[in-house]
Amino acid sequence: MKVRVLGCSGTIGRDSDTTSFLVDDDILVDAGTGVGRLTLDEMCRISDIFLTHAHMDHIAGLPMMVDAVSAAYMGREHTINVHARPETVDTLHRHMFNGEVWPDFSRLPSPRRPAMRFHMLESGQVREVAGRIIEVLPAEHSVPAVGYAVRARRGGAPWWVFSGDTGVCPAFWQRISRMDVGALVIETAFSNRCTELARLSLHLTPDMLAECLELMPPDANYPVYVTHLKPSEIPLILSELKELKERFPERGIGRARIQRLLAGEVIELAGEAVVPMAETVPMPLMPEPDIGNVLAPVAA
Ligand SMILES: [Zn+2]
Ligand SMILES: [Zn+2]
Repeated sequence: MKVRVLGCSGTIGRDSDTTSFLVDDDILVDAGTGVGRLTLDEMCRISDIFLTHAHMDHIAGLPMMVDAVSAAYMGREHTINVHARPETVDTLHRHMFNGEVWPDFSRLPSPRRPAMRFHMLESGQVREVAGRIIEVLPAEHSVPAVGYAVRARRGGAPWWVFSGDTGVCPAFWQRISRMDVGALVIETAFSNRCTELARLSLHLTPDMLAECLELMPPDANYPVYVTHLKPSEIPLILSELKELKERFPERGIGRARIQRLLAGEVIELAGEAVVPMAETVPMPLMPEPDIGNVLAPVAA
């Protein structure tokens, strides 16, 4: 199983797209502006979309993608399954697919054969899509939200875990501490100077991530990819993470193999090996902040 990072930024800018991950070539986890990096053919291969929550940076690409795919399948039956919490579906219906902002593709081109169909889910539930298992994880955000864990069905396959947007959520860490995690993608939206804002909006700062990583089992050795960084805060967040790692070498954050995730990277989960690698066709990446290699690279 492989996970291609289409976007993992906290907001947009040139070469900077918001959250969306492509699992193999048919499952999308979140549909932020990163969806725009897919070709029409690639979009047409997607059968299922799993949304973490209804915030714009995670859904902005959904309406136009469904429109594009629907047009490409004109005259042929094709429905994209969109999985989300009931509150998320309700928000999408009322504010996006409402016939004003955008057509209601859950009833078009016909209610019996719509371009997309919503499927409600809740934390703790498990879905299967063509040999991949998707478990819905708890999250604590300013609107109803979830995270996801995805793995190949075959025995022994490790989980790719994505926190979605969340503050400190002990239930999330309790659950993943019992999983064979191959790679964890977790948000760290703000620097420590924005702690108050992070607490209000239920996001993480480096200090709060350190608090979370204390809940990792001592023998956990999977890479931790930080994501959803606000672009203006990137150098500060990375230097704060580095400083925490150095200050508490024996603690959770000191032991964790932390790395910043970038759009265009592919996380390959094969057996026990997790190998981040570049795509065949390179995509423009956000320029690295000029602070050197502040985080330890993930060992092979
Ligand atoms: Zn959010
Ligand atoms: Zn977000």
